[in-house]
Amino acid sequence: MADPKCPIHDKWYLQQRPSKFGYAWRCPISGCTVAWYGKPNTSPADHATRQARMMVWRELVQTQERNAEISLQSIQGQFGIEYIGMCDMETCEKIVEWLRQQ
Ligand SMILES: [Zn+2]
Repeated sequence: MADPKCPIHDKWYLQQRPSKFGYAWRCPISGCTVAWYGKPNTSPADHATRQARMMVWRELVQTQERNAEISLQSIQGQFGIEYIGMCDMETCEKIVEWLRQQ
């Protein structure tokens, strides 16, 4: 597998460093928060985007507590996406907004 690259500082390779999630790949540029944890079906993303993706998962659980018909497949169909772990922040925010209306 090729090393993932920072989507912002394209020419820089992310660096493999130990973290609480196992190994993390981080951008070496000072102030850049882009990281990747090596999980399949995810892409490197900055801190805010990673937070937004986690928010989608949290919101999905809460939505399912009041509406059991909502699933990951509902999100995939509604937004034409395959993986939450590859969504950008704007899409994540739209998904959360949509989930709150279900
Ligand atoms: Zn970077």
